[in-house]
Amino acid sequence: MLSQKTRYAIRAMQHLADCYGQQTVPLSEIAAKQNIPPKFLTVILSELTRFGIVESQRGKAGGYRLSIPPVDITYGDLIRVMRGSLALVPCASRHAHECCKNCVEEHECRTRALMLQVRDRTAELLDGVRLSDPIALEPSFAPAEEAGT
Ligand code: SF4
Repeated sequence: MLSQKTRYAIRAMQHLADCYGQQTVPLSEIAAKQNIPPKFLTVILSELTRFGIVESQRGKAGGYRLSIPPVDITYGDLIRVMRGSLALVPCASRHAHECCKNCVEEHECRTRALMLQVRDRTAELLDGVRLSDPIALEPSFAPAEEAGT
C-alpha cells in the first residue's frame, strides 16, 4: 500500500499540475484544497524540490510550481521519487524488500511469484499514466465494507 506521504505527494502534484502555466501556488492553498497538514506538506514539497520536479519561489507572491510539464511526469515516476512501494507484500518490493517472520524460501513461494507479477503490472499501468491525463472517477465505486471485500 502507498504510504500516507506518497499519497499526499500525489495530491500535491495533481494540484500543481492543474495550475501548471499559471503563477506559483502558495503552500497554504495546496494544504487547504488537498487537505494535507501544512507541516507535512512543507517536508514533501522540499523533497520534490530537491528531486527537481518542483520549484519554489520566495517572497510575497511565493509558492510552488512544477518545473517539468505534467505531460512529462508519470505516476510511476512520482511514486518512485517518493520511494513508494508498488508491491502488495514487502517481499515483492524492489526498494523496500523484507521477508515475513515465518517466511518459506522466497524462490519456492508461489504467493511471492504472483505478487511480483502484480507489482510489475501495476508499475506498467502507472508508467503509462501522466499527471496531465484525465482520470475517470468511478461513480459506482463502493467502499470495501459495502462491496463485501
Ligand atoms: S512467505 Fe512468501 S509471500 Fe510471504 S514473505 Fe515469504 S516469500 Fe514473501
